[in-house]
Amino acid sequence: MTEKLPDPRLIRVHQHYVCENCGFWQRYFAPAPPDCPVCLDYRHPLPPAGWQFSGPAALAARLRVRWAEVLPGIWQFWNEPAVGIGPRGYVIVDRAHGNVAFEGTGYYDQAALDFIAELGGLRYLSASHCHVFGALWQLVEAFRPEVVLQQDELPFCQAFGVSWPFEDRAELHPGAVLYHTGRHTPGHTVLHLPARRLLCCGDALKFQLDDHGQATHISTHRAYDAHIPLSAGDVRHYQAVLDPLDFDGILTPWEPVPTGGKRAMRQLFAAQLAGRPFAEFFRIRDLG
Ligand SMILES: [Zn+2]
Ligand SMILES: [Zn+2]
Repeated sequence: MTEKLPDPRLIRVHQHYVCENCGFWQRYFAPAPPDCPVCLDYRHPLPPAGWQFSGPAALAARLRVRWAEVLPGIWQFWNEPAVGIGPRGYVIVDRAHGNVAFEGTGYYDQAALDFIAELGGLRYLSASHCHVFGALWQLVEAFRPEVVLQQDELPFCQAFGVSWPFEDRAELHPGAVLYHTGRHTPGHTVLHLPARRLLCCGDALKFQLDDHGQATHISTHRAYDAHIPLSAGDVRHYQAVLDPLDFDGILTPWEPVPTGGKRAMRQLFAAQLAGRPFAEFFRIRDLG
């Protein structure tokens, strides 16, 4: 008996589409997805002029990919102009244990991928949460790294495969350890780099910098755009996870704060717990 093959005219090929409102990538059938799951969530604004999705070729035609070594062995990638909310992606170089990508920027061109290859490629890839995935799917296709994500973030990982889902903690290597914080999103995760005394904090913390790149203000929130604070229990949970970790500097998906980040975090958490939690920025005292 011969198997009946599907009519080739009915086979629809999926493609990658980015939401122009927030920058989240989905795999979907042509011509475009019906909506964006990140924008439909209460944390994000709906697109003011309706859904608009683009493919990689449209982004390649209109933006440039930039990168810079923000700290020794830590490279930050970004787009000009930004895609969606404009997260920046990091590549943390570790010749002994393998390079780690954490967070993603909206689009990587071939020159950026070639540069990452020159750095030694990627052994591990992770991200704090779906708001700052950017085009991680491009890094997965180019380098086939181990993809390590907290399991509650899996519903947003349709654009790429996850090889290592974890619950509370995942040690990529002794110099790179993931911790689940939740709260900002259910699967929200931070990356601790103990040997460098750095924390990649995702959206658990956000900084304002002055013209010299010095952090002046810090905030924490359930939703930045919707201006929703954490609950007191959320703040205590962040405190319980983050305070025991040994770090000084903090890298958000936007701003590098090389020193004094933990001191600022402690001031913020104390202020949050002294009264009613708030979403506003808090002025950092004596960051030094
Ligand atoms: Zn969106
Ligand atoms: Zn976020």
